[in-house]
Amino acid sequence: MNQIPINMKNHWMPFTNNKMFQKQPQMFQKAEGVRYWTPEGQEILDGSSGLFTCAAGHGRKEIAEAVYKQLMELDYSPHFQRAAPISFELAEALSDLLPEGLDRIFFGSSGSEAVDSAMKICLAYHKAKGEPQRTRFVSRSWGYHGVNLGGTSLAGMVGNRRDFSGVTCDVVHMRHTWNEDQRFTKGQPQDGADLADDLEEICQTYGGETIAAVFVEPIAGSIGTIVPPVGYLQRLRELADKYGILLVFDEVITGFGRTGSAFAAQEFGVIPDVMTMAKALTNGAIPMSAVAVKTEIQAAVIDSITADRPELMHGYTYSAHPVACAAALATLGIYKNDGLFEKAASFSPTFLDAVFSLRNLPQVSDLRGYGMMAGIQLTPGETPGAKGSAVQRKLFDEGLHVKATGDALIFAPALVTEEEDLSGMIDVLQKVLGQAD
Ligand code: PLP
Repeated sequence: MNQIPINMKNHWMPFTNNKMFQKQPQMFQKAEGVRYWTPEGQEILDGSSGLFTCAAGHGRKEIAEAVYKQLMELDYSPHFQRAAPISFELAEALSDLLPEGLDRIFFGSSGSEAVDSAMKICLAYHKAKGEPQRTRFVSRSWGYHGVNLGGTSLAGMVGNRRDFSGVTCDVVHMRHTWNEDQRFTKGQPQDGADLADDLEEICQTYGGETIAAVFVEPIAGSIGTIVPPVGYLQRLRELADKYGILLVFDEVITGFGRTGSAFAAQEFGVIPDVMTMAKALTNGAIPMSAVAVKTEIQAAVIDSITADRPELMHGYTYSAHPVACAAALATLGIYKNDGLFEKAASFSPTFLDAVFSLRNLPQVSDLRGYGMMAGIQLTPGETPGAKGSAVQRKLFDEGLHVKATGDALIFAPALVTEEEDLSGMIDVLQKVLGQAD
């Protein structure tokens, strides 16, 4: 492959140091399985499943064929007061995968849309139940819930909120669950369930009756894989019930087998009232997200409106896009036929052992992991985040794509990763993280 001349000036890139990128562009031209290729033909192993999207590996023909067929049959259908049969098929297939009772599905196109839709659904539910004063949300320090205004308000990664004050809504943050004693813990830390009591303290301070919902990622992903302590999510469930607050799991990363179960809710045995999902829903091939809510939440909202008008004044032009539905159905088919959730569960010990082999390298200050996702914390440099960016660029040059946030790498290869792919990825990590500053 030859390098193609590209004008770098017109595209404003998201979450990117644009000046740096223009000087040192790192591009993908082609992908297959767990590999990318640059326009120059360099092979890059994919250590983050794209952006935790491509769980079944890149270039899946089943999805491409389903998308083509759907485009030729019904490329678009409006979804307000109209519908296409395929979205009902997908909603049914998803509810079969979800924990029992979470069986009413609302579609969007991105994780951020799912989060903001979930927030609105929580508000509509409380209003329908005669508690319109529940307008406050609780989330967690270091949490990531996308970048729309609701998700920006929920953000516990404060850098994502900093420049946008004035348009955010009322959110109180609990503490994150990481502490020094957890360094190099594989799986769930034993101590720390009591950190969920922050929710109780917030209820006592602000009045539990003012809070609509508590949003958490069951495993905090974007900050670098922070695994919940044993009992923590259970305690959140108890407190949410005690104060009549809806518990929302943001499973945009943890959904679709990443933990070894279909969803983290099943893996940890805690069922939320509302769940958001995206990314691996379509294997990343077509943008799509969903919010699943308990039957009674949808029923309360629908039953509260008797006039001939939409019960929920919310929706997107691309809600339940038929082509995205086709991609999602094909993706769910692959997960089932290839047994990918089971594969993730059985491969996880090998994956985590490989990650923990990096323990003594000079650039590594902590390792965390669960299922098929791991966090590699780098020894901090002078400016927070600078080490992460520099290491991410070096890894790419050495042939490995890994997502970096701040000074953490989020290593989460596709669920189809085989042992030899993994050892190729670990070799690159060894080489780069083994170098002194
Ligand atoms: N929620 C979580 C937990 C995420 O990890 C992400 C993206 O990484 C989002 C929401 C936002 O998803 P999107 O980038 O598709 O809007």
